[in-house]
Amino acid sequence: MQLKYKRILLKLSGESLMGEQQFGIDASMLHHYANQIKVLVDVGVQVAVVIGGGNIFRGLSASKSGIERVQGDYMGMLATVINGMALQSALEGNGIYTRLISAIEMKQIAEPYIRRRAIRHLEKGRVVIFSAGTGSPYFTTDSAAALRANEINADVILKGTRVDGIYSADPEKDPTATKFDTLTYTKVISLGLGVMDMTAFTLCQENNIPIVVFDINVHENLMRIVRGESIGTLVEG
Ligand code: UDP
Repeated sequence: MQLKYKRILLKLSGESLMGEQQFGIDASMLHHYANQIKVLVDVGVQVAVVIGGGNIFRGLSASKSGIERVQGDYMGMLATVINGMALQSALEGNGIYTRLISAIEMKQIAEPYIRRRAIRHLEKGRVVIFSAGTGSPYFTTDSAAALRANEINADVILKGTRVDGIYSADPEKDPTATKFDTLTYTKVISLGLGVMDMTAFTLCQENNIPIVVFDINVHENLMRIVRGESIGTLVEG
């Protein structure tokens, strides 16, 4: 099978695990993602996932209600480990070999991050789940996605969202908003489009890593992107 991308970094937000719930993890969403990832693994795509934590805890929002920012950020990072464990379990239930890696050491449940080891897992066909973000407060899991994608030489960052790409305005608020099929990094910045936070986005731009923003909830979208179909919005060069 002809594949456009052979090693991908999939960014899954914590919110994407909530489904219709207001908080936490919806098991049916986990299984949906596990199924989509399995199709990729079965055709030999190397899959790394960076998982968010916003469905459980966000440092910045918590700081507004009195939890000190850095403390809150570490709590947010721990939330991503919980999500990572849930995703690992769903993937393994699908017969996929996985490794959960944490940027904060917690050896009983996750491997510490060692770049060469993570790459070796991918080469062996194991799905690598990166949790605990970058391991540092004041960052986001989008930054972790950009960082890890560079470190493992991923061909692309696939940012799974609930909308089907990048729009000129928020499509849920503005009916005149139009969708972009492709964009350059400079256009994203000049139009002030919110693809990722700036730290993450700049890292992708500097290292020329393409980003595809797409609707993760549409069945088979992931596979179609990997095969080269124009789904969502592609940001590059
Ligand atoms: N976080 C952090 N450093 C990182 C990644 C995450 O401090 O490198 C914290 C931060 O408080 C953030 C929370 O973890 O709000 C959850 O991550 P994020 O908001 O990126 O999750 P997502 O929006 O993808 O669900």
